[in-house]
Amino acid sequence: MGPDSYYDILGVSKSADDKEIKKAYRNLARKYHPDVCKEPGAEEKFKKINEAYSVLSDAQKRAQYDHMGHEAYSSASKGSYAGGGGYSGGFNADFSGFGDIFETFFGGGGRQRAGPRPGADLLMKMRITLEEAALGTEKEVGVDHVEPCPECDGSGSETKKTITCPTCGGSGQMRQMSQSIFGNFVRMTPCTACGGRGRVPETRCKACGGTGHRRARQTVKVRIPPGVDTGMRLRMEGYGDAGDYGAPSGDLYIEISVAPHRSFTRRGDDLETKVDVTPAQAVLGSEVEVKTIDGRTVVLDIPAGVQHGTGLKIPGEGVRWQTRPGDMLVRVHIVVPERLSDEERELYERLLEIEGHKPSAKKGKGFFQDVVDKMKESVK
Ligand SMILES: [Zn+2]
Ligand SMILES: [Zn+2]
Repeated sequence: MGPDSYYDILGVSKSADDKEIKKAYRNLARKYHPDVCKEPGAEEKFKKINEAYSVLSDAQKRAQYDHMGHEAYSSASKGSYAGGGGYSGGFNADFSGFGDIFETFFGGGGRQRAGPRPGADLLMKMRITLEEAALGTEKEVGVDHVEPCPECDGSGSETKKTITCPTCGGSGQMRQMSQSIFGNFVRMTPCTACGGRGRVPETRCKACGGTGHRRARQTVKVRIPPGVDTGMRLRMEGYGDAGDYGAPSGDLYIEISVAPHRSFTRRGDDLETKVDVTPAQAVLGSEVEVKTIDGRTVVLDIPAGVQHGTGLKIPGEGVRWQTRPGDMLVRVHIVVPERLSDEERELYERLLEIEGHKPSAKKGKGFFQDVVDKMKESVK
């Protein structure tokens, strides 16, 4: 059994409309919100509900999801962290927009709590070829990020121990008295000694000055699943900036742009290319060889009597989705030869005769020469 689909998570059918999805989400999100639900695993469940909703509530993402299937969309591959350290990085499709939903339903504001703060998300743009987009690939990228200081394991403390902040007593907040024309009131501000974290290093780490962080370049292996397209974002969970000690790292988002290809054009999941044929091939039909996106040569049968511009389909040679690959569409271009051997000329002349047509008076001259002659005449 694979993981539950987003439809299962929200408890709706695959054909559910936006209203049903929103309703199911509201009910579940209220039930499992970590501030409300004390059941074990509620937070995990809440995250999943949000993830499911962020995909199914977006028509484009939902279509992509339906197409790719759950496996491919949500965890097609695992990234691996090549820069040392103990990250567990996974790969996910884009679930951003989560924050917005949250604010709308639970009335924002209260989210900036005291305590260790998670690391920032990073966004990186990546240009890939159409081959890579259609077939999937793996790439290594260098990303500058904030990572835990190796000397103190990110604690900021030489002893790797942190203590309750003596200034704020661990609340991370300080009371500040303000005076106004309405009277005095107390304002809460983040503690300046611990920056709102509530804890400080026992003994300041010399390598990082107590921040617990350092800037470094990490090498990240990115598995790009087949089917990605321009504008899609891949999420590498945990590959963003390191958070405060004890808080999770941010995520790395990789925004894909696919470079144009010299012989293939993408049309949804299909890849379109063209093949040149001679008039004789078009009339009588012919076998031609065409190259697929992954560089193989396949034989295509051009049917007799094919017209210029006809698209011939080679099933399964398009974009390689996991569920169902797209097709390759080969557009037939009938190219009229401009140079003929004596034998060919004879045969074409014979053909013209049989068709009952008169040959051109300007024998031997090509079309362009003819046009040039006409222009000269008009200038006179
Ligand atoms: Zn403090
Ligand atoms: Zn350190």
